[in-house]
Order: sequence, then C-alpha cells, then structure tokens
Amino acid sequence: ADQVHIIGGGLAGSEAAWQLAQRGIRVRLSEMRGGGGSTPAHQTDGLAELVCSNSFRSDDDEKNAVGLLHHEMRRLDSLIMRAGEVARVPAGSAMAVDRDVFSAEVQKALEDHPNVTVVRELVEELPSDGMTIVATGPLTAQSLAQSIVKATGEDRLAFFDAIAPIVHHDTIDMDICWKAARWDKGGKDYINCPMSKEQYLAFHQGLLDAEKGDFKEWEADTPYFEGCMPIEVMAERGVDTLRFGPMKPVGLDNPHWATEEHPNGRWAHAVVQLRQDNKLGTLWNMVGFQTKMKYGAQVELFRTIPGLEKAEFARLGGMHRNTFINSPMLLDRQLRLKGAEHIRFAGQVTGCEGYVESSAVGLLAGMMAAAELAGEKWVGPPATSAMGALLSHITGDAEASDYQPMNINFGLFPPLRDVKKKARKEAYTSRGKADFGEWLAGLEAVPA
Ligand code: FAD
Repeated sequence: ADQVHIIGGGLAGSEAAWQLAQRGIRVRLSEMRGGGGSTPAHQTDGLAELVCSNSFRSDDDEKNAVGLLHHEMRRLDSLIMRAGEVARVPAGSAMAVDRDVFSAEVQKALEDHPNVTVVRELVEELPSDGMTIVATGPLTAQSLAQSIVKATGEDRLAFFDAIAPIVHHDTIDMDICWKAARWDKGGKDYINCPMSKEQYLAFHQGLLDAEKGDFKEWEADTPYFEGCMPIEVMAERGVDTLRFGPMKPVGLDNPHWATEEHPNGRWAHAVVQLRQDNKLGTLWNMVGFQTKMKYGAQVELFRTIPGLEKAEFARLGGMHRNTFINSPMLLDRQLRLKGAEHIRFAGQVTGCEGYVESSAVGLLAGMMAAAELAGEKWVGPPATSAMGALLSHITGDAEASDYQPMNINFGLFPPLRDVKKKARKEAYTSRGKADFGEWLAGLEAVPA
C-alpha cells in the first residue's frame, strides 16, 4: 500500500514525491488536473506546470539568496533542479527553463518511478488518517479549502494576499525617522517617517498618477476588505483620506523637530509607519501600504518618503488571489498541523512564495515525512542556510498576527551586522554553505 498520500502535483508535491520515492517510500500523488479539476491559471494537465514566468530567478549562489536556495536543493538531489537543468534556456545569471520540457521531465521522472503512483483525482477533504502532505498551492480547489477551514478555523486560511511593502531595516535613515508609538502607548514599536504638507501633497499626487497593475478577470470579483484597501484606491477617495487612515500623524511627536516651545518634538503633516515584520528585526513592513501599483512605480514613489530615500525592499506591495494558511500559528517545526499531526503542509499554501521556495518546502516536507516513517529524529537545516531561514520564517519567526507570503531573502537570515554592507551578501552565502554542508554531512553519517 502507499505510505504517503500527497495532494497536489505542482512544484512542491512533485518534489516531495521524488524525495520520498528515492528513499524507498511508496507514494500516491493526487493531481486534480486531468481528473476533473482545474485552476484559473494552469493551462495543461502536466505535473509541475509553471503558471506564469519561466524563471527560477538568480542562479548566483554567491550573492543571492534564491541562488543559495538553488545550491542547497541541488545538493539534496532536487527533482525540480534536475529537470530545470535539462530544460534550461539562456537567461544570463538567472535560471530559466522551457516550461513544457520542464514539466514533461518532472512528470516522466515520477510516472516512471516504481514507488510513485500518479492519480488524476480531485481530493475534496483532508484525509482523516494516513500520512498526508497537502501541496495544493495558491489556487487550492474550493472544496478542499473549505475542509482546511473546518480543520483550522475560519480566520486561519487566507484567500487573498494584500501585501504591504517590506523594507530592509539597515536601509532606513534613522536620522530622519524615529521610533515611537502613537501617544507613547505601548513602547517605541514603530518606525515613523515624517512628511511635511508639501511632501504629502506631492506623494498623494504620485499615488494618483502611478502606473497600476490590472486585476486578472478572475481576481476582479474578489472584494476588497475595508481593512486592506490599496493605498491608491484610498488616495482616490480624497486628498485627506490617507491622513485620516494609515498616514495619520496625530500623537506622534517627532524628536528631530523639537523646539524650545515643543521640547518633545512636533507632529508631522502625515506619517508613514513601519512595523517590525520578523523576530530578527531585519525586516519592517509599511503599515497599511498594500497596493496594486507596478513595482517600478512603487520603488520610485516610496523612495520619496522622508527616511526611505535609500530603502531596499525585501518585497514590494501587491494583491493577488492566494490561498495560504497561517503557518506560524498552525504548524509545528516539522510542518505538521498541530492537533492532526498526520497532515503536513508544503509549498505555497504554507505562505512561502515562488516556484523555487515552494519546491524547497516540498523537498523538506518529503525529507521530514521520510525521517518520521523511518523512526529517525529529524534535525532541520541550520537557520543560517536558505532552507533553514525559509523554514524558520514559516514555522515560527514571522509575526503570526500579520503573516504574509514571502520570497527567500537575506532579511530572513540571522543578521551579520558586524560585516561591512558591501561584503554582507557574500558573507551570508559562505556562512550558509558551510553550515549547510556540515548539516548534510551529519545527516549522511546517520546509519540507515
Ligand atoms: P502549484 O504549483 O500551484 O501546485 C498545486 C497543485 O495542486 C496544482 O497542480 C493543482 O492543480 C493541484 N490541486 C489543487 N487543489 C487540489 C485538490 N483539491 N486535489 C488535487 N489536486 C489539487 N511564482 C514564481 O516564482 N514566478 C511567477 O512568475 C509566478 N507567477 C504566478 C502567477 C499566478 C497567476 C499565480 C497564481 C502564482 C504565481 N507564482 C509565481 C507562484 C507560483 O505559482 C507558486 O509559487 C508555485 O507554483 C507554488 O507551487 P505549489 O506546488 O505550492 O503550487
């Protein structure tokens, strides 16, 4: 009989199936496409279909976090990286693939594998027993999504991302910004960027003029929740709407603007607030700044905010249909659903973002399930590696109250504050590779 049931034959599910099968474990891989199901983005019945771009992004494993993830996945014999190599097309320092060749390679490797049974079927409910990996992705079928809601609670599953931009802390100018909470309540938890009236009016006009992305037709009928309306939509409602909303200046004395008359500082005309986004304190999100502006327009406009002139963004704002669970709250460190530990989640449904990240989490879920079946103690990859950093983010380091999907980036790694900024990227990758190598050697030393 099959020992593990994987639901979803996308990037994560295919990688998890491969990892298990290669370790001698029999897998049932259920994919709804070709079996009565479809998504609004997929166009074929092929396993591991790339729904949009054909790029796995940077392949530079010396200066780039996703390149480091490639490196680690290759060392773990990733099927996605293997098939990617076969399907590779020229793309400079990036890794891009012919999507049809890629999907066909993945499918063939799994269909030909004696330990894998690919079944074309729509799974409508979480199985009540048997080791399971749920890897149904950002467009999880509605029936299964409902079943997940039933198991996890209404407000633990999101159907939509409303992402505010996230800034690397070391690129914020603290000679202009300051830390404080409104009316001095509850610690100095926010970083505040002050705006004069002139600056605010120019910013407001910039929002009205900025180039916006279109909603896909299948996203258009997803309503805005009042709490996560795009800033440009708020700007359209009136010149002061933002000043009474996320850019409210009241109760925030700016000490950089202190005078004799106002020794604690004065209020700005408007304030952009940033809130800490990860436990490490390396990433800060712009509160209430979800947006559909084009990426280029966001960078240009947000760098006009005082204190953010040199901001580097770990991710830009966006709004997409995306099904994902609140992993930091729901999952244990091994990606198992607390209270129903026979179920693991993997891929984008855990709140990572992107082809490579989803595949990496699928890879880890496969390894974890294999270790569990073998009765081995699972020791996860070090937090200084790309896989470890990603896993830490998903299973505990992110702020659960405001959990939003994230690509891999150096802001998720334990910070190297003492290393000069110029040398920092290389320091992250060389530390990561060394620690990852040690971890791997330790795994291989475990007797079978
Ligand atoms: P998927 O690859 O989506 O795989 C999930 C699989 O589960 C699918 O094959 C689906 O058919 C199947 N499934 C779902 N529900 C069920 C069920 N109940 N029973 C059986 N099977 C089921 N990432 C990038 O890196 N670059 C991009 O350019 C990019 N563009 C995107 C554009 C769109 C419109 C969307 C929606 C996402 C995009 N992403 C992009 C994100 C990317 O799709 C994901 O990161 C990645 O595919 C996630 O891998 P996954 O395995 O978690 O999910």
